[in-house]
Amino acid sequence: MTQHARLDPITIPFVDVAAQRRRLGARIDEAIARVTAHCQFIMGPEVFACEADLAAFCGVRHAITVSNGTDALVLALMAHGIGPGDAVFCPSFTFCATGESIALTGATPVFVDVDERSFNIDPESLERAIAAAGDLRPRAVMPVDLFGLPADYDAIGAIAARHGLTVIADAAQSFGATFRDRKVGTLAPVTTTSFFPAKPLGCYGDGGAVFTDDDTLAAALRSLRNHGEGSHRYDNVRIGLNGRMDTIQCAVLIEKLKIFPDEIAARNRVARRYGDALADVATVPVVPNDSHSVWAQYTIRIGSGRRDAVQQALRAEGIPSVVYYPTPTHRQTAYRGYPAAAGGLPVTERLSADVLSLPMHAYLDEPTQDRIIAAVRRALGA
Ligand SMILES: *Cc1c(COP(=O)(O)O)cnc(C)c1O
Repeated sequence: MTQHARLDPITIPFVDVAAQRRRLGARIDEAIARVTAHCQFIMGPEVFACEADLAAFCGVRHAITVSNGTDALVLALMAHGIGPGDAVFCPSFTFCATGESIALTGATPVFVDVDERSFNIDPESLERAIAAAGDLRPRAVMPVDLFGLPADYDAIGAIAARHGLTVIADAAQSFGATFRDRKVGTLAPVTTTSFFPAKPLGCYGDGGAVFTDDDTLAAALRSLRNHGEGSHRYDNVRIGLNGRMDTIQCAVLIEKLKIFPDEIAARNRVARRYGDALADVATVPVVPNDSHSVWAQYTIRIGSGRRDAVQQALRAEGIPSVVYYPTPTHRQTAYRGYPAAAGGLPVTERLSADVLSLPMHAYLDEPTQDRIIAAVRRALGA
């Protein structure tokens, strides 16, 4: 690297959506042009083609596209009739939409602590949260596959079965990942995801999907995403949402899904290089042998209050980094009144003080990654 570049660093992108667009260019434009030619912007043929592709990708009977990942969660809760008086258990160390979807239905989110290594819901804390539900009816648990790594669905499923809870998987960050050779989309009776542009599989706007093998649940979800429609157009049989995904977004996704396996492999190569280069200076993420992450984020831990200084040193070298999440949901203004597992959420509190996510995407080339690695090592005084 030249001296000039060190003094006046070019800021590298945190997620390089433009690099992917260059790779796909004409195919995306052509797909969009087909929709603008046929003009079926709502529930056009690409919506059903996209749903078939998504279902085939994860080996599930039904993929139902919806307006975004938050509505996907709300619809999954609505399809189970979850509402006031019900308790739904979820982590606090996640994007706010997890708890928000529960509160929107009138049910009560009960916050659960996470595991120190996986950052995912801690089964023991889940047991303590169920015991603390008080007068609320325990109805569902909503695990999150944080940063792209699936939660422990075997342990969660066993607890859920014991307490009569349904499992609604918030896989907004993990579409394409696997747990014990099973694909996300099949790990719970109902799974939701998001196609927000910065997610591992993103469209060019808002989008999401719900996955299930249950025919009855799938029919209810299809009805609910379109105002609770029945078999007769003007006899709505449920209170639903305007929750459809646009035809144009489905057309974009069809093209992006074709290169997604290749992108997942690239993300895993990037993650492996980070792990090899940083394990001696920071706590790097570990993936259990029987799982595969899609690396929605590559998140290291930096202890002893040094995170701000490290972030500042990186910024000075043109390296962006982001803290996901500096304030856990249960500490946010709108959520302070909701219950949490007995014993509190000590791991969640520690993680929100320690974590730092580094640039991660399928188009991060080795020289750029080496520049990031060198800067992180320097910032940590290594
Ligand atoms: C992004 C995200 C959502 C919400 O998805 P949107 O498409 O932005 O509504 C929900 N849960 C988690 C864990 C997320 O990361």
